[in-house]
Amino acid sequence: MTQEITKQCTKCWEHKPRTAQHWYKIRGYFSSPCKACRLQKPSATFNEARRARQNADYAKNPEKYKEKERLRRQRDPSHARKMEIARRHKDIERTREVKRLWSRENRDRINAANRAKRAANPEKVRSYYAKRYEETDYRLNCIVSASINKHLKNAGSAKTSPKASLVGWRISELREHLVLLFEPGMSFANHGAWHLDHIIPVSAVTFFGANDPLFAAVWSLENLAPLWAKDNQEKRASLKWQLPDTYTNPLLRSAYSNRNVALLDRNIFVLKQLALAA
Ligand SMILES: [Zn+2]
Repeated sequence: MTQEITKQCTKCWEHKPRTAQHWYKIRGYFSSPCKACRLQKPSATFNEARRARQNADYAKNPEKYKEKERLRRQRDPSHARKMEIARRHKDIERTREVKRLWSRENRDRINAANRAKRAANPEKVRSYYAKRYEETDYRLNCIVSASINKHLKNAGSAKTSPKASLVGWRISELREHLVLLFEPGMSFANHGAWHLDHIIPVSAVTFFGANDPLFAAVWSLENLAPLWAKDNQEKRASLKWQLPDTYTNPLLRSAYSNRNVALLDRNIFVLKQLALAA
């Protein structure tokens, strides 16, 4: 049987040569419609009509389509997951809202699940906290927060606002400040061998609660420095104490020799308190 040289498109009714240039080959045969027609995007009305037809089919026999969907998920779980994520991203605001409402209504369930997860993996929990503790800023934050809480408690007050708003610096700024003042041999790995020292000791000033400017002054970066633990013990909260000659960092030396000036500049109130304390 001889084949015609041309083939008629079922859509545009044009006759086109039987070559791969004009037709797609499907299962060994050139299929209709032609390449150009297939590449055309369906019109909006066509899409609408198709959607309506699909919805009607689904309403007629939903179980059939649910079963089909289930089988497809089984066949290719990764594709199903991808489609699910795409669907959620289509209306991300709604997805977030649904999530928020669900977690609010299921707080107890979520907490119980988390508790069970932690109880089942104690090693994982331990290593998580151990690792976090190794991270400099977290560790610094623990040290500083505990110390601030203690000072405020001693002053008959309590920490009611975020640390940053009380002391005026962030943990990262404290870290950078300390690095500049480190003596040879000091590092964040051997904190404990050195302490976070208040150049003007906290016990040398009297403050009344967290909003007292004097509190902010003793906790200001200018008043914080790393000090070897043994020297800190020797210092014993004395204003007359001098930095031992073994300290060579010029920044650290000047911080201790100018210790009054830095704070006095900061607040006239501090000046009066220091006079009272001396
Ligand atoms: Zn065509």
